[in-house]
Amino acid sequence: MNIILLGPPGAGKGTQARILMERKGMVQLSTGDMLRAAVAAGSEVGRKARAVMEAGQLVSDEIVIGVVSERLDAPDVRQGVIFDGFPRTVAQAEALDALLADKGMSLDAVVSMEVDDEALVDRVSGRFTCAGCGEGYHDTHKRPAVEGVCDKCGGTEFKRRADDNAETVRERLNAYHAETAPLIDFYRAQGKLRTVDGMAEIDEVTAQIGAALA
Ligand code: ADP
Ligand code: ADP
Ligand code: ZN
Repeated sequence: MNIILLGPPGAGKGTQARILMERKGMVQLSTGDMLRAAVAAGSEVGRKARAVMEAGQLVSDEIVIGVVSERLDAPDVRQGVIFDGFPRTVAQAEALDALLADKGMSLDAVVSMEVDDEALVDRVSGRFTCAGCGEGYHDTHKRPAVEGVCDKCGGTEFKRRADDNAETVRERLNAYHAETAPLIDFYRAQGKLRTVDGMAEIDEVTAQIGAALA
């Protein structure tokens, strides 16, 4: 099964993708993670993407589609893919349809995670992750069980993203409403759209996604 988790920054896409990965053996394909890795590695893609990401704007369709196309050639995607943060424009969605057809794959469902804009600023501003395993946490909504120790790997180092500040989040939300929200109608027209309440507790959202995919 191949699915898209669709929603604004902070909606909980990464959180739910990791749970689906653990429980269903699917592969998470996060273009944000891939672009951050490219920036860290100083590759050509990273050099082009860096300033755009820091400003909270969208990296060009051409670059992002290239990165995804390459990733879909790896054999592990046959276990099923969770697209997280991709597609983000109608042009990316059309390119994804073509890429999947080309590789003999198809899209089963698109889960739209609905969250109020006011909650998103708090979600993103309070977000941090384990430097060792990437597990996601939040200052108030999801703290490690033991203060300063990762629940998953026992690591004690955590990091925050440079673009997770209130000002950049507002820019990212603008980009979401202008460029990404039209995908809701795009996938509704394909009959693939499912909607979950992203304002619910993490476990409840997981249950709603499970029901939407059943
Ligand atoms: P996205 O990948 O959509 O940008 P994340 O999964 O990183 O979002 O979640 C953003 C922040 O909100 C993280 O700190 C995460 O721990 C927290 N979070 C995720 N889902 C929920 C939820 N249902 N309720 C409260 N906080 C959540
Ligand atoms: P979030 O889920 O919190 O919005 P991501 O990690 O998905 O964050 O994305 C971080 C940044 O990476 C975006 O603000 C954007 O600059 C860039 N990016 C990620 N995915 C895409 C994409 N599909 N198209 C264009 N830019 C992207
Ligand atoms: Zn960890």
